[in-house]
Amino acid sequence: MKNRILATLAIFTLFISSCTEMDEKGESHLVQTLTPKVPEAVKIAQATNKRVTAEGIKGMLNETLFAGKPYQISSICIYKNVEKQTTVETIDQQFQSTLSHRWVPNDTRRNWNGDGNLNDIDFTYLAPFATANGFDGPINAIPVYDAMLSKWENEGYCNTVSLDISVYDLSTGINPSLILDFGLTPGDPLSDVQVLGFVPPEIMEAVLGSPNVLGVAFAFVFIDENGNPIKTKRGKDDKAYSEVWFNEGYPWSNSLNGINIQSVVLHEFGHTLNLGHFGILQSFTTNGETELVYQPVNTMNALYIGEYRNFLGPNDKGNYCEAWGSWPWN
Ligand SMILES: [Zn+2]
Repeated sequence: MKNRILATLAIFTLFISSCTEMDEKGESHLVQTLTPKVPEAVKIAQATNKRVTAEGIKGMLNETLFAGKPYQISSICIYKNVEKQTTVETIDQQFQSTLSHRWVPNDTRRNWNGDGNLNDIDFTYLAPFATANGFDGPINAIPVYDAMLSKWENEGYCNTVSLDISVYDLSTGINPSLILDFGLTPGDPLSDVQVLGFVPPEIMEAVLGSPNVLGVAFAFVFIDENGNPIKTKRGKDDKAYSEVWFNEGYPWSNSLNGINIQSVVLHEFGHTLNLGHFGILQSFTTNGETELVYQPVNTMNALYIGEYRNFLGPNDKGNYCEAWGSWPWN
């Protein structure tokens, strides 16, 4: 049953603990039981707020879910599918090489997973939500996550930081999202970056206010007692946490049929590693046929135009150096 409600958290925790050694069949039962929900506070804010912009969504979440927390959302990077029938010449141009925040090495507040290693960036995947609805059948996204993280870690012009990967441990009983309610105990993050995976389209739309979102990366920064971002030595905001969602409602694929999964994963992971959007999108119309062209071609182009972006472009590689070239001296 999809909307099964368990009587108490104690029972739920026990149930989950007992699932950690289950076989494939048991795990699929768990997938159905772990249903993310939009938190009540967010629903109430939605009834009164118009959240048409990322800034509006950010304000709404910070005023409800994250009021009084030592960290708040700093940016919400949304990756949308572009409409092809437009005849406007310049559709979009963004040249933000990196975002305004940085991970700070040796920041003890960020020892979320307790491993004591604060010179790497820890990524955690939520395995029950790592299956994409595929154009040619379901896709296990975990090998895709691994391969795309490896590109950022090893193929940029700077290979300064290690990315540590683990799978979210459901037996902790801690909610795997800071934003969505999975019916588990709310808590601090368990990792620097939590990849929630493929979230139902109605939830993407409820929180983000738009049905066209392929993926989203939320970035949180630490704040002081007055609510202002804590600055790093180099004047950036001190990054606390990042969370990534993909839209389960799209037909994903390993090719260009449907939406190319590698391209969207590589892009969102770029945001978790502090990269911004880069490139100018123009359309050229010849004999009624419109062609969309990005210049320069990078995975961090702001909109998905139905082309492969499953590789790092020259600006991706260089901008990665802007964020990571001096690591671990941020
Ligand atoms: Zn983006």
